[in-house]
Amino acid sequence: MTAIETPEAAPAPSPDRLHTPVLAWFDQHARDLPWRRPEAGAWGVMVSEFMLQQTPVSRVLPVYEQWLARWPRPAALAAEAPGEAVRAWGRLGYPRRALRLHGAAVAITERHGGDVPSDHAQLLALPGIGEYTAAAVASFAYGQRHAVLDTNVRRVIARAVTGVQYPPNATTAAERRLARALLPDDEARAARWAAASMELGALVCTARNEDCGRCPIARECAWRLAGKPAHEGPARRGQTYAGTDRQVRGKLLAVLREAHGPVPQAALDAVWHEPVQRARALDGLVADGLVEPLDGGRYRLPSA
Ligand code: SF4
Repeated sequence: MTAIETPEAAPAPSPDRLHTPVLAWFDQHARDLPWRRPEAGAWGVMVSEFMLQQTPVSRVLPVYEQWLARWPRPAALAAEAPGEAVRAWGRLGYPRRALRLHGAAVAITERHGGDVPSDHAQLLALPGIGEYTAAAVASFAYGQRHAVLDTNVRRVIARAVTGVQYPPNATTAAERRLARALLPDDEARAARWAAASMELGALVCTARNEDCGRCPIARECAWRLAGKPAHEGPARRGQTYAGTDRQVRGKLLAVLREAHGPVPQAALDAVWHEPVQRARALDGLVADGLVEPLDGGRYRLPSA
């Protein structure tokens, strides 16, 4: 087992003392989520990972089910226009993820015969797939040994091992080294650890209400043992939505999703009272490839 290198001095528990309790807790408490079932396959795992970024499970579940029913394989999605992916994305938010998932499906179909590759480098080479998603698919779908660093895992490691309340805003090289050092040596156990530590962060060691009384590693947790020192640095604020360009983009896109043909400018003008912000939001959607301008001041979801 590799020695742990912590970014800051802290009484770090040994990896072995974390694995067994967290894995045992996961055996008992893991949620039965559709993308964790064997029938989900690598495509189901990939779809879920795109949808779950910055989006709670409860909102993802219905869209995920409809998506997989309509497009059970990457080739089925690749055969349709990208605008159909944006339409099916519904109100999940951050709709560029729909375009990226469509782009990945096209590449999987063209380069890999329609099967999601298992090789980490091949996953990483797909459009729209970053380090996190490649590691998540390789680990969750193919049982490989990778550090899968989402916000939940980063928070658990920050608290239990590094001894601080929150991880840095952006993932650092030190966090990656630490997460790799924490991986069990055995491949199957490492894959299970990735899912288990993520679930612990989602259900017990949450951002604002850590439930140490239910935590399987409370006796090891460096942050708890240090008396839970408060986060240093600027206060973490929740994102506001009302009145933002994001909200306007969402309203404009909703009109286009619900239409069955090109939409006139007047229909878009009706969704937001402030013309400068409305125009800026629409320009942004066009620039992002989420909306296609047509002749005569009409718009539609992207056709190609
Ligand atoms: S003991 Fe509390 S702070 Fe530490 S990992 Fe568990 S829930 Fe999080």
